[in-house]
Amino acid sequence: MSGIQKKEEILRRFRCRGSGACCRAGGYVAVSDADIKTMANRLQMDDWMFRQQMVVVINGWSYIATPSHRVRCFLDEQNRCKVYEARPKACRTYPDWPEIWESDESLELEMKQCVALRKAVQDAC
Ligand code: SF4
Repeated sequence: MSGIQKKEEILRRFRCRGSGACCRAGGYVAVSDADIKTMANRLQMDDWMFRQQMVVVINGWSYIATPSHRVRCFLDEQNRCKVYEARPKACRTYPDWPEIWESDESLELEMKQCVALRKAVQDAC
């Protein structure tokens, strides 16, 4: 059985090790208005200031952590997310992202980046 066919078991076994690898990876992290409010609150900033400093809007969608904007996102010096308890849905649901489970190849690619995902796949397969 291939990795993607064992998705549910892999996700059940997944335990984040806090490497920060997914946070440092390129790409976009979408944020909703509710995410922005919660994160701004966590950082004791007002929503407007947070949007000015931390959010880019592309085609009407709001994002943090684009490759050219806040490359380390909210990671501190110890690779810990400063807004972890208030992190956006996109971060809370990792690695349950459709693009990771498209094929065994996409899963394989993600496993190279995330040691915890690699371990969960090894344990499940
Ligand atoms: S918000 Fe936090 S958990 Fe999400 S990508 Fe940025 S640093 Fe990582």
